[in-house]
Amino acid sequence: MSARILEVKSLKKHFPVKSNLLGKAMETVKAVDGIDLYINYGEVLGLVGESGCGKSTTGRTILRLLDPTEGEILFEGNDIAKYNKKQLRTVYRNLQLIFQDPFASLNPRKKVGSAIEEVLYVHKIRNAAERKEKVKELFEMVGLRQEDMDKYPHEFSGGQRQRIVIARALAVNPKLIICDEPVSALDVSIQAQIVNLLNSLKNRLALSYLFISHDLRIVKYMSDRVAVMYLGKIVEIAPAEELFSNPLHPYSEALLSAIAVLKPGKKKKKIVLEGEVPSPVNPPSGCRFRTRCKYAMKQCSETEPQLKCLGGEHFVRCYLH
Ligand code: SF4
Repeated sequence: MSARILEVKSLKKHFPVKSNLLGKAMETVKAVDGIDLYINYGEVLGLVGESGCGKSTTGRTILRLLDPTEGEILFEGNDIAKYNKKQLRTVYRNLQLIFQDPFASLNPRKKVGSAIEEVLYVHKIRNAAERKEKVKELFEMVGLRQEDMDKYPHEFSGGQRQRIVIARALAVNPKLIICDEPVSALDVSIQAQIVNLLNSLKNRLALSYLFISHDLRIVKYMSDRVAVMYLGKIVEIAPAEELFSNPLHPYSEALLSAIAVLKPGKKKKKIVLEGEVPSPVNPPSGCRFRTRCKYAMKQCSETEPQLKCLGGEHFVRCYLH
């Protein structure tokens, strides 16, 4: 079996936003515009970028909550981009999602224990007694008490609700979890607890994560490798330590300068990017970052740079390298 649990090839997700009288799309938001990435078994790939860069759309398209416009999504070697709903149901035993707002993802009228039991039932897991035992085990695993099983979502704090959502995701014994801003809706004091829980579950259950977050410190702590996204494209992807100590793409350099983690001896100065992020309806020609890049040259507006391997697992999309 390949070491890769997930491999995404040339993935695009475009949204038509304006149509003519005949219903033909006149304008298209290119939210995800041809990305390639992979995740190995047991690995955490962080995905960072400014809000609106397409990172959440990437996660949702990989999960097939959104249908891809183009590209392949190889999950354990099978292209799930082409799967129908019935086929996807079997994939969701191995591929799960944890997202930002735990309250929105729980049914307010259902006791949380029953909600998790229902997931087990839908996936045809075990008989009733075994399902009850499994729910108890999951509650213990995420640090909740057995008596919490009979409560409703509103009886919990935000951090506890996220623990319930994590327990529900784990109910089917997934191999890969897409964590989309899993702690950003929580109080700062609670964030570390949930991040530590996700980290210990990853080690205990040999999970892989696609960890999407705008919080660079958390991404650095959680990830083995990190991909940096700008305007629908991945501009750099590298092992976490390497990227945070030596970002090579001018956008990564600016983004990561926001946290003082650069190597000792280097200037720890925040780089402020000039200008707004261009519209994903009409991205700039050539390099999409050129309108904000202080190193932009003639070539940058003429041809799009490709993601180039600089050795090992470090890839950069920039003519400077
Ligand atoms: Fe800047 Fe050109 Fe590199 Fe783009 S390709 S990041 S514009 S130097």
